[in-house]
Amino acid sequence: MNEQDLNKDMVELLNTTFSREGMNGWSKSVYKGTTCGAHISYPSETSIALGSIVEGCDYGAETVVLEWPFTDEVIWSTLTDIEEECEMIWNSTHGCPDCFDISDDEPSPINLNCSSCQGEGLIL
Ligand SMILES: [Zn+2]
Repeated sequence: MNEQDLNKDMVELLNTTFSREGMNGWSKSVYKGTTCGAHISYPSETSIALGSIVEGCDYGAETVVLEWPFTDEVIWSTLTDIEEECEMIWNSTHGCPDCFDISDDEPSPINLNCSSCQGEGLIL
């Protein structure tokens, strides 16, 4: 999918919403604008897909497809949902050995009151 294949009105909205022009710019804005480093792709001429992976996991937030027409509010609220989902996944899988007394190799949840990692968990 090239930028010139995309719906022109959608391109205009994306340029405005992300304050950058073109696919590379939009990707940069989506990545930098979210704590989880979300990504954007283009399933068709009239849709965008937003999603994110969680570092250390082989899965991430569910990818959301927005079909044109949509608004900038919808884009940002979708990105907020994705961030929250990533945080939940992170918190349920990145616990350090001291977070809970779990002794198997399964990913363990973060204890937000853990004194070893201060509730930040570990980068896997
Ligand atoms: Zn911990």
